[in-house]
Amino acid sequence: MMHEDGSQTSLTTGDEKCLTRRQMLKSFGAGAVAATIGASVPRAFASVGSLSTAHDDHASPIPEGWANQSVTPRAAAFNLTDVRLLEGPFRQAQERDGRYLLQLEPDRLLHNFRVNAGLTPKAPVYGGWESVQPWVDIRCHGHTLGHYLSACSLMFAATGDQRLRDAYLHTNNRMALDVLVKLSDWAIATTQKLSDAQFQRMLDTEHGGMNEVLADVYALTRESRFLALAEHFCHRALLDPLAQKRDTLDGLHSNTQIPKVIGFNRLYELTGQEDYRAASRFFWRTIVDNRTFATGGNADREHFFPPADFLQHLGSAKTMETCCTYNMLKLTRMLFALDPSATYADYYERALYNSILASQDPDSGMMTYFQPTRPGYLKLYCTPTDSFWCCTGSGMENHAKYGDSIYFHAANALYVNLFIPSTLAWREKGLTITQTTRFPEQDRTRLQLTTQKPVNLTVNVRHPSWCQAVTITVNGRRWAKSRQPGKYVAVNRVWHTGDIVEVHLPMTLRTEPLPGNANVVAILYGPIVLAGRLGRKGITPGADIIVNERTYGDVLNDEVDVPVLIGDSHEIVRKIKPSPESALMFDTTGIGHPRDVSLMPYYRVVHERYNLYWKLIKPGDVDRKLSRS
Ligand SMILES: [Zn+2]
Repeated sequence: MMHEDGSQTSLTTGDEKCLTRRQMLKSFGAGAVAATIGASVPRAFASVGSLSTAHDDHASPIPEGWANQSVTPRAAAFNLTDVRLLEGPFRQAQERDGRYLLQLEPDRLLHNFRVNAGLTPKAPVYGGWESVQPWVDIRCHGHTLGHYLSACSLMFAATGDQRLRDAYLHTNNRMALDVLVKLSDWAIATTQKLSDAQFQRMLDTEHGGMNEVLADVYALTRESRFLALAEHFCHRALLDPLAQKRDTLDGLHSNTQIPKVIGFNRLYELTGQEDYRAASRFFWRTIVDNRTFATGGNADREHFFPPADFLQHLGSAKTMETCCTYNMLKLTRMLFALDPSATYADYYERALYNSILASQDPDSGMMTYFQPTRPGYLKLYCTPTDSFWCCTGSGMENHAKYGDSIYFHAANALYVNLFIPSTLAWREKGLTITQTTRFPEQDRTRLQLTTQKPVNLTVNVRHPSWCQAVTITVNGRRWAKSRQPGKYVAVNRVWHTGDIVEVHLPMTLRTEPLPGNANVVAILYGPIVLAGRLGRKGITPGADIIVNERTYGDVLNDEVDVPVLIGDSHEIVRKIKPSPESALMFDTTGIGHPRDVSLMPYYRVVHERYNLYWKLIKPGDVDRKLSRS
């Protein structure tokens, strides 16, 4: 099984030879469509899915036919068109991403498609995965277009910016659905001669979210042949153990498995079949509880490793591929809709700040591939036109869709999951909510309501797991004080224009151990992972913008001293003090060895070396170390 990093793993046993991605594509007949296999197949379909949101401001949130699923979600996201970000780091990231999307030339992205269709390309091909080996050989070139179309559609929905309009016109029409159906019929025709064993062998290879995509086609068309193929695309070697609550993920390629599980969950929604539900829920729990770093990212060199081995992977510069977090967030919000638990929203918040917001260079707008846990290393970013990694493509989407999970709704309830400055227009209720906050720089948020007529509604405010007690006031009078982290505080009343809900979420410092290693800890403030600032040694301007993601860890390897911290977790936390420099900046005082260190949110770290996990040592160990030297 060949992966994007050139490594191989197999889910099959015995000496059965796996089909490589290349062989699989050949067996599919390759051609123009082949270029979309991989992460971007779902993107082509996702564009169609997102169309209903982009179609017009009053469109139903659910495409026609989409609602006829077996399992009714208990909560639903709002259309991106209903949520607008207000000034803050997320909106700034969205604007940077928008500028990047506008710089890209569709004719250059279409180059490979025109060539494959026997047409004369209208512009030269882009670099990186769009045109160089081994990406051409494995038919990955062209993968960016799907992400680009999705990102443009999302950006249009999220901002209303008409310059995004071309992509919207290209995708939001009946033709897109016709193409989708024909593409799916082609997939049926080209796989029908495969035996079950051959089909399952093919699924060893990274194939994006084919089961999810085909399930979506079934949801849109209600044609049972697409459901049958979607189920055929379920990899039994993954589904069966997960459904039996067995973790067999060691050694598997992370970003191959997460999309398969998203597909399992989609099939549960459509069929109600319990094994799909059990598998997706168990997978999520396993990843989040046992296989995730403090930032919400997972894996090393793109592969899951035994949870007992975290320490030996900490030194890697190839931990936490950004796409994996992108896909975990996608799975998380699907699971939340089925079961609106604050546990899902807690993970979403953590990964959104510490992985996704952290993945963009605020100066260039470019994106990370890995987010290295290697002490003293740095974030490296793609180039605008010569990289086009998978994480460039998913990165285009990440920053366009921040508005999609701040609020959810149920029949007569609103969920406020994230504390991000934004406005929400809930048209069915005639209700507008403006959330004003400087969170996490400030530990409070404010919701102001405008209603066309009085509305009886429960507003569920998330009480995050990192906060001991949340206080809520309504129009200046205390409504509730919650001491139940990881739950919702329900505020039920008849709402009128001008009503104001204020939420106070005190944030504190704490440590979190590296899984399985009590003496190696990350430092967090509320949901925010703090990184130690270790200087800019060897980093010249632009040196952290790289073409080839495989060079992570091979470049900019200047030796950097990484302090250890003296004391236990309680003592450490007591001796970290807020810095007068700015909000969310801290300094260790008298506990760093051989020196103290400044801490800042990982999401703000840029063009500088950092450390995420700290080794804790006892005071006596330092004395012994000093007397030996
Ligand atoms: Zn990626």
